[in-house]
Amino acid sequence: MGVPSVFLRTFGCNFKCAGFGMPRGELSTEVNDIAARVHYFKDYKDLPLVSTGCDSYASWDPRFKDFSPLIETDGIADRIMEILPHKTWKDEHLVITGGEPLLGWQRAYPDLLNNIKMAGLKEITFETNGTQELTPEFKKYLQEWSRWHNREITFSVSAKLPCSGERWEEAIVPDVVCDYESVGTAYLKFVVANAQDVADAECAVGAYRAAGFTGHVYLMPVGGVESVYVLNNKNVALEAMKRGWRYSDRLQVPLFKNEWGT
Ligand code: SF4
Repeated sequence: MGVPSVFLRTFGCNFKCAGFGMPRGELSTEVNDIAARVHYFKDYKDLPLVSTGCDSYASWDPRFKDFSPLIETDGIADRIMEILPHKTWKDEHLVITGGEPLLGWQRAYPDLLNNIKMAGLKEITFETNGTQELTPEFKKYLQEWSRWHNREITFSVSAKLPCSGERWEEAIVPDVVCDYESVGTAYLKFVVANAQDVADAECAVGAYRAAGFTGHVYLMPVGGVESVYVLNNKNVALEAMKRGWRYSDRLQVPLFKNEWGT
């Protein structure tokens, strides 16, 4: 948090997470309602923000795919250079997010990272849901990339608990996350709203630890909008402290009110 970062958001996700913000067992229909009038919107920034379900739906739902440009890796590198304050890498991190950034895009990242304009990059974070295995080729590539000038790779694993609406067997995949630790640093981040979610997080952490996971664990309060977020952020911090876990704020909410692109 607070580190100058460029976010690269890839399209597509293997989940829908329609349970966020809903009573247990119910799924949000907010995105379906927006999709029914998708032709009224000209740009993804015009799309409504949602208070239930996945708040980045425009980055994976095929009904909104036309809002995402298809850009060659050279074009992405050019765009990144435009964004960087010094037009070259200094202290900035590259955060690759989604959707789920470790789907088929694994095949494209080496081409991007080998681009000469990316040579000064020192740290990459993948914001993943922790369900996608690294391909042997990409794993080897990342291991070699990080050995060069002590570059760092982090996997920020936002594993999905039952409150997301996703099935436990598909969402909690400890062996996959343990394998990330053979490439870089990994930590678990659980988005929680109530005591049941915290209990689910404890159960999940037990499963990851049993598989050999050694990284840190974070709790983060649910809430894409400030009115929801402030309801439980202090309680979530206290729950994290009780367990010796870490607390993660949602800095973008007070700063940007969950605008698109933040
Ligand atoms: S895994 Fe993340 S991007 Fe995918 S649907 Fe769930 S919250 Fe959205």
